[in-house]
Amino acid sequence: MKVPLLDLKEQYQSIKEEILKVAEEIFESQYFILGPRVEALEKDIAGYCFSKHALGVSSGTDALLISLMAADMDAQQTVITTPYTFFATAGSIFRTGARPIFVDIDPDTYNMSPESLERVIAAMTDNELASLKAVIPVHLYGQCADMDPILKIAKEYNLFVIEDAAQAIGSEYQGRRAGSMGDFGCFSFFPTKNLGAFGDGGMVITGSDDLYDKLSVLRVHGSHPKYYHKLVGGNFRLDAFQAAVISVKLKHLDKWTQSRQENARKYRELFATAGIDDVIKLPVEKEERHIYNQFVICVKDKRDELRLFLNDAGVGTEIYYPIPMHLQECFLALDYKKGDFPVAEYAALHTLALPIYPELSDDQIAYVVEKIKDFYDR
Ligand SMILES: *Cc1c(COP(=O)(O)O)cnc(C)c1O
Repeated sequence: MKVPLLDLKEQYQSIKEEILKVAEEIFESQYFILGPRVEALEKDIAGYCFSKHALGVSSGTDALLISLMAADMDAQQTVITTPYTFFATAGSIFRTGARPIFVDIDPDTYNMSPESLERVIAAMTDNELASLKAVIPVHLYGQCADMDPILKIAKEYNLFVIEDAAQAIGSEYQGRRAGSMGDFGCFSFFPTKNLGAFGDGGMVITGSDDLYDKLSVLRVHGSHPKYYHKLVGGNFRLDAFQAAVISVKLKHLDKWTQSRQENARKYRELFATAGIDDVIKLPVEKEERHIYNQFVICVKDKRDELRLFLNDAGVGTEIYYPIPMHLQECFLALDYKKGDFPVAEYAALHTLALPIYPELSDDQIAYVVEKIKDFYDR
């Protein structure tokens, strides 16, 4: 049996008519960038995420970058984030000239540990505190970080909070939705995300009128009015076609999220009877409405051998993420070393993402668990 990590073809078949209809309309109109389709999507995403404003941008990476630019990051400043995330989180901090500072993660959720955050800030000198401007928690794999203590610390030290919600659209924390709790919430429409475009795309949400105005200007090279530049922005625009695809898919998102949650529940049942809980740790659901962008298990030993075994059996898996940010070659100058973030380093060596996409069949899920059991029974 084949169980790919992700297969988008079946989902496409279910929305093909709707997509082809809007594609035809856009091609006939020859209107491709920003405009009414992007505006309509922005309104819908702001509503879906319980936020006031939303601004369509070119990617999730650019959502982070434009937020940092709107927060006036520069080479004198520092931003705290987690070392256990997709590269874009730390990369966009670095690209503004600011210095990323890492804090370790929670071993159950893999999200930023508020205790580590507190500890790192408490150890800072007055000068270091004066440079610290923002914190970027990441809602990894579809589950919100423990936001209340993070927001409290941010308030105490007057930090911008930029939520990297690229993997977490619609996930919830105490009745609030991912992205709506900080100053900026950043989303990605990369095709593998729960709400994926047919190319690159992203969105920033904010509750602040002033930050929204600034983001809007930064999106078009800082031009306001046209050809007058008070700020240096970039081309961070979203295509009408990507917006139209996302609008079509948004109507189906809750149903797909429900299927992912169902699949997670089925995995839990099957693993519970497989009797391998001494070697496999299942994802821990701490917050409400985990949207399962990924279903990531933690494997006590032989993770890489298990991955090869599953691959040979036709089961696709992935390692998110094999090298924590503080050990990446491009960040050598930040002067971190192995051992600085033991929880993130352990996760990098022991986690494995299993297929969780909505269209998986019961047989496929059962097959994945059976093969994992086979590996440990050998
Ligand atoms: C996907 C992702 C991004 C970047 O999004 P792109 O649209 O690929 O630029 C940023 N952060 C996290 C955590 C992501 O998973």
